Amino acid sequence: EEHLVIMDETAIRRALTRIAHEIVEKNKGIDNCVIVGIRTRGIYLAQRVAERIQEIEGKQVVVSELDITQYRDDRKAAIAADIEVAAAIGDTDGVPFTVQDKRVILFDDVLYTGRTIRAAMDALMDCGRPQSIQLAVLVDRGHRELPIRPDFVGKNVPTSKQEQIEVALAEIDQIDQVTIINQ
Ligand code: 5GP
Ligand code: MG
Repeated sequence: EEHLVIMDETAIRRALTRIAHEIVEKNKGIDNCVIVGIRTRGIYLAQRVAERIQEIEGKQVVVSELDITQYRDDRKAAIAADIEVAAAIGDTDGVPFTVQDKRVILFDDVLYTGRTIRAAMDALMDCGRPQSIQLAVLVDRGHRELPIRPDFVGKNVPTSKQEQIEVALAEIDQIDQVTIINQ
């Protein structure tokens, strides 16, 4: 097994700061935007970017989380999508999560075939009609099987299908680091 570190703590911090600026620029501010982190590591990335945006714009951003683990590619289950307001930032005092007319920014750690994002979009659109859905990822490793492309990318990493990207985040992994693992 070969391990190669492709992003260290500094590189991750800079990438997330850049993405925060890009989100603000693309949306001409942050009004009406919600950032939706996809299960586990996407949620921490979403929270970090929301903190940066708050520093840049002086406005709070709602962060929510989406767990679609059990029903990738399963439409029936996707309808039962478990969407919760879990935000540490923004108004979370029992306000139901709504996507109606919102600019929804999905955040995931790694983009690969695109199937997770397709399922996430299905789940979101069962909750209302967003004004738009944008996609941010820390790593785009290629190999798309669906016509999905990210709007905001931390790092493009061409990989072989045998390779794996390991994303470690301080909140749960005690270190900020992205590694390529070649099995
Ligand atoms: P996709 O659905 O696009 O095929 O895969 C993306 C989802 O699977 C993401 O939620 C991501 O966390 C996970 N994933 C796919 N490939 C990798 C990888 O190489 N490394 C990590 N850490 N996650 C991956
Ligand atoms: Mg994931």
